[in-house]
Amino acid sequence: MTIPEISVVIPVYNEEESLPLMFDRLFPVLDTLGYPYEIIFINDGSRDATLPLLLRSWKRRSDVTRIVDFNGNFGQHLAIMAGFEIAKGNIVVTLDADLQNPPEEIPRMIRCVRDGHDVVGTIRRRRRDTFFRVTASRAVNAITNRITGLSLHDYGCMLRAYRRDIIDIINDSTETTAFIPALAQKFAVNPIEIDVDHEERKQGRSKYSLLRLIRLNFDLMTGFSLAPLRAVTMTGILISVMSFIFAAYMFIRRLVIGPEAEGVFTLLAILFLLMGVTISCIGVEGEYVGRIYQEVRRRPRYVVRKIYESDDEISKEAGQ
Ligand code: UDP
Ligand code: MG
Repeated sequence: MTIPEISVVIPVYNEEESLPLMFDRLFPVLDTLGYPYEIIFINDGSRDATLPLLLRSWKRRSDVTRIVDFNGNFGQHLAIMAGFEIAKGNIVVTLDADLQNPPEEIPRMIRCVRDGHDVVGTIRRRRRDTFFRVTASRAVNAITNRITGLSLHDYGCMLRAYRRDIIDIINDSTETTAFIPALAQKFAVNPIEIDVDHEERKQGRSKYSLLRLIRLNFDLMTGFSLAPLRAVTMTGILISVMSFIFAAYMFIRRLVIGPEAEGVFTLLAILFLLMGVTISCIGVEGEYVGRIYQEVRRRPRYVVRKIYESDDEISKEAGQ
């Protein structure tokens, strides 16, 4: 295999319906690119016909294809990380397997890197997702930018290109709860965001349930900011000040008017509210503590069952 200039990294999880179409569109784009390239598919523990389909494509195009086969589902971001670790190209492009991001945009992104940008992000124009996803994603983008101090218009769009130096930095960041676009943005010197089309998911279903999306966004928030912890502290201070004023008022009232026994339920209501606040604050702290615990255990972030590479390289049995 010639040393590739471009590496395309694609995480795949149960995408048997999308893959054939994906191959039909991706290979022609890359073949006409004029650069040596490689495609790295990461099979993220799929339980359908994804792996056989990938292997068939690998056998046909083993000169440019490599497959990393995980032994379980470790999530999209860790799958991309695994691809980054073995990518050889000077420019690395990430892409979803479901064709929501058009592969035809890749040449334009590569041109941007050639023009001197180290990270090329994309913004989904006319985004074709459910109304709920689009609205929630807008809110998350705005909040995330505020609390992390980063500036990205679209955290969720994975059609992105990175220059080698950024990939090396990301490879050095061995965190278990990585959020790749934010990580890259943090280290980028000259990033750019371009508009791309977004297509409906025509085959298969989104792999993100509401719960998974919430978890992912907690990763993003906690991984890049201590603002939620500060908000907890500020809430605590605010409540203490208000309680102090309230207690002082009750004390003076007792001296002037005498003891009061009514309003018990109002007090209970206030108490319940404060209990709610307390429990959520413990939750926020728990999110951080849990992540620290995950990091210090230093378990493998993902387990590779096998890497399928071209014949001139030995297929590795690897576990890392
Ligand atoms: N994906 C993955 N592991 C997962 C979930 C998703 O590798 O645990 C892949 C999936 O196959 C696709 C990409 O990540 O290539 C984006 O997933 P999806 O299209 O379901 O996300 P959405 O577009 O709904 O945000
Ligand atoms: Mg998708």
